[in-house]
Amino acid sequence: MQFRNFSGVGLLAADYNVTLEKNRKFMPKIPCFLCSQELEQRKDKNDKPYFICDPCGMQIFVRGRQGVLNLTELISTLRKQDFPFREHARVLLEIQAILTELRGLKKELSKLDGLLGIFTDDDDKDRTRTFLKQRIENLLLRLEQLANSGLAS
Ligand SMILES: [Zn+2]
Repeated sequence: MQFRNFSGVGLLAADYNVTLEKNRKFMPKIPCFLCSQELEQRKDKNDKPYFICDPCGMQIFVRGRQGVLNLTELISTLRKQDFPFREHARVLLEIQAILTELRGLKKELSKLDGLLGIFTDDDDKDRTRTFLKQRIENLLLRLEQLANSGLAS
């Protein structure tokens, strides 16, 4: 796919180590969720990320702060492997699901410490915290597996 006037190539935000990325000429991209083709990130005049899939005739704008954060997270996860978008739509969905669950778990975890009086004793709280951490650990492990070997299968 060719993009003309593709001036928006760049980094999402402060989330990235800018120097490192520049050196590696990293190109942020995500797969089209309809056809799995790689879509390179563009930036609009307000510096918000968007994507265009020509075959699908689709434009995807990411306007919200949470959306930008989610996008940053997804791109940096995909980047750890040279993600072969077309062949691995299924793996991509799993990665998305894992990232989403991780976000939820981390929110739960941070909420846990703000709660007062809901747990009858600290044991319950500790148990819940341990459970959440274990689940996070498992998900991170799975993410790593996907990055290392999952794509070969
Ligand atoms: Zn498409």
